[in-house]
Parts: sequence; C-alpha cells; structure tokens
Amino acid sequence: MINPNLEIAEVGNTILRQQAQSVADITDKKLQQLIDTLLTTAIDANGVGIAAPQLSQPYRLFVVCSHPNPRYPDAPFMKPTVMINPRLLSHSEETVKGWEGCLSVPGVRGLVPRYQAIKVEYLDRYGNLHQQELTDFVARIFQHELDHLNGILFIDRIETQEDLVDSEL
Ligand code: ZN
Repeated sequence: MINPNLEIAEVGNTILRQQAQSVADITDKKLQQLIDTLLTTAIDANGVGIAAPQLSQPYRLFVVCSHPNPRYPDAPFMKPTVMINPRLLSHSEETVKGWEGCLSVPGVRGLVPRYQAIKVEYLDRYGNLHQQELTDFVARIFQHELDHLNGILFIDRIETQEDLVDSEL
C-alpha cells in the first residue's frame, strides 16, 4: 500500500473507475494511517462520506459521517464511522430520489434514486464485524460510498438531464 494521497481524485481520474480490492490485513500500519487520513479529510472537507479510491487508494473502505448540511438539514448527527469490506446484505423494495453531491465531482449535484432502507455489514478498524440497518440519508451515503468501491459515480445513476444541476454547495 502506498502512502495516502491527500489530494481528492476528481472525475476523469481512472482510479475512480476501478474495482477496489478487499482489505486483507486490517492491522497493517499503512491501512490504519489511511483510515486516519480518510477521517480527517472527510471532516476537513465538511463531507458526509469519503471512500478510499477518492484518495487514490483502491481498497474497500470508506467513512460515513452524516451531519445536518444545506442539502439535508434534517440529516442525523453520527460519529464518523469507518466501514471496511462493506457489503449490502438486503434492501427495501422502495427507492427514493434525493440530492447528492460528491467531493470527486465538484460543481454539480443530482437527484439519485437509492434504496430507502438497507441491511449492511462491515468490519471496523479493529476487525470487529458489524451488522446494521440503515435508512434514509445514512442509507443513501452508504450506497453512494459503496458505488465508489465499484467504480461507479452518482452521475452514472442520474435518470434524466433535469435531475443534474449546477451547484455551489
Ligand atoms: Zn462521492
């Protein structure tokens, strides 16, 4: 594993289009450093989530850190949560469209359909397995970040041109 790159990869960078690899050794010192860098970067950028490929690291982990923001004033506050080798176990039939942006796709946001409720599992930075049900905005963040691990960006899921708008946010 190479040293974390503090620069956020932007659309057009091929790293964002790769399938990320599973994390094999959670105790790896470089991996633990990458986790710290992801946490710091998400907080500094005032983001609600960030995935390792956005820091040019093709590994399956991301941070989810929901907090109220201009697009989702009612979003819940949560402690920034590191999710390693995350999996979507099941999901609601229902999908909902909601606004998303991405640190890697500056200047636009879009209305993206996502499952309203999901059941997920992931490892934390100590290697403990967690299973959780997520709903609404937090479920949306998880699905957005999981897409990053599979080389998918939210703009790929936009259904009509009207659902993509310029944004300063
Ligand atoms: Zn993103």
